[in-house]
Amino acid sequence: MSAIDPRTVLLLTGIMGGLMSLVLYSLKRNYPASIEGLGDWSAALLLLFAGGLLVAGRGKLPNVVSISVSSFLLWSGLYLAYVGSQRFFGVKPRIAPWMALITGLALVQLWFSVVEPSYHMRLVLTTVATACLSGVHAWLVFRQGSITFSRGLAVGVLVFLFGAQVMRLVTSFSAPFPLNAEFFDTSTLQLTYITSFAFSVLLFSISAVLMATDRLRIELEHLANHDSLTNALTRRHMDDACRSELERCRRHGHSMALLIMDLDHFKEINDIYGHQAGDQALINFVARVNALLRGPDQLGRFGGEEFVALLPETSLDEAIAVAERIRGACTLAGQAPACTVSIGVTTNRKDNDSVDTLLARADAALYRAKAAGRNRVEVA
Ligand code: GH3
Ligand code: MG
Ligand code: MG
Repeated sequence: MSAIDPRTVLLLTGIMGGLMSLVLYSLKRNYPASIEGLGDWSAALLLLFAGGLLVAGRGKLPNVVSISVSSFLLWSGLYLAYVGSQRFFGVKPRIAPWMALITGLALVQLWFSVVEPSYHMRLVLTTVATACLSGVHAWLVFRQGSITFSRGLAVGVLVFLFGAQVMRLVTSFSAPFPLNAEFFDTSTLQLTYITSFAFSVLLFSISAVLMATDRLRIELEHLANHDSLTNALTRRHMDDACRSELERCRRHGHSMALLIMDLDHFKEINDIYGHQAGDQALINFVARVNALLRGPDQLGRFGGEEFVALLPETSLDEAIAVAERIRGACTLAGQAPACTVSIGVTTNRKDNDSVDTLLARADAALYRAKAAGRNRVEVA
């Protein structure tokens, strides 16, 4: 006889699940709409909470309610949690066939509770359905690239839930039931089974909150580091990147190059074609330059129509070649409004070069390119 009452475990974790549903709902209200799935996770926990309450009412509520309706709610809740993760990771859910399957299973469950009562068959159905739902869910989260703590927690909890169901299914065959077996028997096996389910739901909801918070942090970092119009890097990010690259070059005796690029007569583009066309020309320019740069190169917008490219491990000759390619790509672009670019190029030379001196040198070269008629590359 165990000292812990399974009903109490279910009630307590159910209430905590209900509270976590509120937490996820408030995240849905306050987080950007681009973070999807929070509403589904919140609704899923509410369904699991309601299903758990009905299960806890076993013996006090009609069996149809405490067995069949509760199973339907619990499986729908587990499925909705899966839908939440699908939406969160940008996978389109296929709700109709899954809900038809869950409804069908609930009806079979009803058959084994009313027409041909069999606790064993109901247990088989429950464990198979829960194992399938947690298995596909774990696989979905696992497939989403490198594992972070929050996703690792989600996968771990779902795999644990899957394993617990499989174990319960196997033991249901190897340890035969007494004829009067009931859900709330207090054997260690049954208690472990109920507790593992309840705590899995709770831990999954915590991992969902953490995954959403991780996503928010990534989105905020992206906003802080990227210019909203062109998606080039911000000046703040470029300042940091140039500083750490220069430091690395100093330690290893490597060469790095800086390109300052300024679109020519851009004011005229705005005046002739309109500000929107000017914006589009800036977007096109960034796309074109990014297509020409290598993986470790970084392109930032320093203001208006002025951009800086940081080229690590690059000699002066290589940097001039890159600058000429960029200039040529703009000249050949063939899209209205046509727009040329002037570029100042420099590399680190002395140990006491700072980012500011590099920028000042590249700027002086750019000034010369402008003075010499624009659409040119100059070196300093
Ligand atoms: P120069 O060849 O000497 O560089 O001439 P310019 O006309 O390009 O230079 P100037 O500095 O006189 O003008 C820059 C123009 O860029 C003025 C400004 O309205 C425009 N500009 C700056 N930021 C944006 C933007 O985000 N969108 C658009 N459409 N125009 C911008
Ligand atoms: Mg300009
Ligand atoms: Mg300018």
